[in-house]
Amino acid sequence: METTKKKTYCRICEAHCGLEVEVSADDEIISVKPDKEHPVSKGYACIKGTGVGALHHDPDRLKTPMKRINGKLEPISWQQANQEIGDRVKALRSQHGNRSIAMYQGNPSYFSFQNIMYSSAFLESIGSENMFASHSVDGNNKYEAVTQIYGRSMVHPVVDLDNVNFFMCLGSNPIASQMSIIQVLNPLEKFKNIEARGGKVIFVDPRKTETAQKVGEQVFIKPGTDVYLLLAMLHVITQEESFNTEYANEFGDGITEFIENAKLWTPERSQTLTGIPAASIREMALQYRDADGAALYMSTGLNMGPFGTLCYWLVQGLNFMTGNIDRKGGLLLPKGAFDAVKLAQLIGLGGFDEHRTLVGNWHRVAGCFPSSTLAEEIETDHPDRIRALFVSAGNPVHSLPNGQALEHALPKLDLMVSVDIYPNQTSEYADYVLPATDMLERSDFPVSHMVLQVTPHAQYTEAMVPPQFDRKPEWEIFSDLALACGASPFGQSVCNIIPHLNRTLSKIPGVSERPVQPEHLLSLLLKWGKKVSLKDLKAKPNGVLLGDTPPHSFLGKRVPTENGKVQLWPKKLITDIPRLDVMEAHFLKTRDQLQLIGQRDRRSHNSWMHNNPRIKQPSTHQAIMHPVDASHRGILNDDEIEVSSEQGRITLNVQVTDNIAQGVIAVPHGWGHQGSQLQRAGSLPGANINQVIPGGPNNMEAASGQAIIVSHFVDVKKVTTTTPIKQEDAVLA
Ligand code: SF4
Repeated sequence: METTKKKTYCRICEAHCGLEVEVSADDEIISVKPDKEHPVSKGYACIKGTGVGALHHDPDRLKTPMKRINGKLEPISWQQANQEIGDRVKALRSQHGNRSIAMYQGNPSYFSFQNIMYSSAFLESIGSENMFASHSVDGNNKYEAVTQIYGRSMVHPVVDLDNVNFFMCLGSNPIASQMSIIQVLNPLEKFKNIEARGGKVIFVDPRKTETAQKVGEQVFIKPGTDVYLLLAMLHVITQEESFNTEYANEFGDGITEFIENAKLWTPERSQTLTGIPAASIREMALQYRDADGAALYMSTGLNMGPFGTLCYWLVQGLNFMTGNIDRKGGLLLPKGAFDAVKLAQLIGLGGFDEHRTLVGNWHRVAGCFPSSTLAEEIETDHPDRIRALFVSAGNPVHSLPNGQALEHALPKLDLMVSVDIYPNQTSEYADYVLPATDMLERSDFPVSHMVLQVTPHAQYTEAMVPPQFDRKPEWEIFSDLALACGASPFGQSVCNIIPHLNRTLSKIPGVSERPVQPEHLLSLLLKWGKKVSLKDLKAKPNGVLLGDTPPHSFLGKRVPTENGKVQLWPKKLITDIPRLDVMEAHFLKTRDQLQLIGQRDRRSHNSWMHNNPRIKQPSTHQAIMHPVDASHRGILNDDEIEVSSEQGRITLNVQVTDNIAQGVIAVPHGWGHQGSQLQRAGSLPGANINQVIPGGPNNMEAASGQAIIVSHFVDVKKVTTTTPIKQEDAVLA
């Protein structure tokens, strides 16, 4: 059989590993392997990436537009779908205003250049500010904090992992899920290299993760209390030791207040909250201060906790004050193939805007309202409430805490449209389900991630195969919907005009249906960036290295705040500081409950990897708890347990291990697909932990609207004992 080998890259997580895809003459994906010639990943890829061929051929994928008729989805044509959706949106806009239309963008939207640009442009061209996104479940705190500190939501200093000598990693398990808001390949190798050159790697986590079991030192911490550790480190460095503020004052504002704020947060006070001995806190703080190149890094374990925004502010502040931002071996600010931050400044993206939710007055972060407010914005009696919802590559019913609230709200919509590659629990409520292309069926360029690269690199990929069945790339779907819904060609995004332009140009004899493609826009942006052209990228399908990010190229030169200085005492963010005292009392209260944390798995990715037949999932959905906590409840290894809160309850299997701190239970998310249309995922056991986690506006971080998911207190009890129990499986304590 004649086959062709083509280069592409994986778009499931930030790592963007290079892949080599073997395609048959009739466009069947024969194999997907790691690309050994890729200049960054060099043959590294995980099972999810090499499984995208099986995902592509998954018979459960959506193949054709569908309309719900008498409760059942029936195939229809694109023309009918666009016409009917367009007519209904026009009627809603005319009766209830543009704000009655909303969109939810799921995580994969950010991994598709075409999706993120055209779905965002679609809503803008409708004239609605009602954009919601999955990042308010796992990263809003970061976008909010850096908007206040550096002026734009996409400015995230990236750890120089190839040169750093002290690396403290809080709330992250890179072996399982790579790292978030940083693009790094094979992080385990990078950590081992830090130790090999005499440096130090510390993992701060309530669980000794798979990463910490292989490299570095483990420091156990009580869930939700990392903010008190960071404050104590700041206290040690600035209050107990002499600290010269000259450098910080040259490049930043609010230094005195930032330092003063740590005055009362001694290591001894932190010890009672975090469980980390005061002497260890002092030792870590001074090692961090004295290292020749150091970085604090935090990820979802902190993002999803009660103080994500204050934690990221302290991480930025400490990295800045110790002189580690904008230096080799510290943290650098890559520009990418074109300067996305400058572009955002020019067109007014990534800052704050005046838009607020109808209920609760929540503001937008990185252009999106918090997802936890979505149900209320649909259910409110306000005349401007949401009446139509477009969901792009998302499954909020499954992935939001207390998704039941959204399930209750969705039937109140007049129209719901899902654009996705799979049917899911959310599209069960959709009137129309539109089939999008997967990553092998579309071209791409990593626009959202190029400012986050440890190794700056640019790669364009063509589609490996044409769209199969009746699927369409998202940019075409949203272009057609924009025209059908009577959208305006004007706005911040140049994508607004493209559907109208294409409609006009295509009337010229001999001109194709869509003469202006996303690639034309990409080509212009690359020309503006002056580093590499689209032609060059097409000639080098596994991409080109852009050269190391230069140190001393950010501070005092391109910090996008109003006065060009780092803002360490931002007015809005500091209003959250009094909550530190309130929550101190909350954490110190004696209870007979465990604190809930999440757990990532290499074989899974949020809610959408369990149907891939190539990825063998664990045979059971398993929580993790400490032997002392298990013994106290009469629980043995492999028992079935019930985890409950006022919100709800689930049952699942348990593993008893001392790789987790006492008082904590870890439950992997993304499980519980029974009853869905996905045959394999639906046949797996397990439960959705979001049924236990309280959601809605009362469980959001005030500063950023981030859903608080980690550190809730839950009841845990044994349900039944599975037999036989082997001696070695018995409770360890
Ligand atoms: S680590 Fe895995 S999921 Fe992430 S980009 Fe690489 S292959 Fe894809």
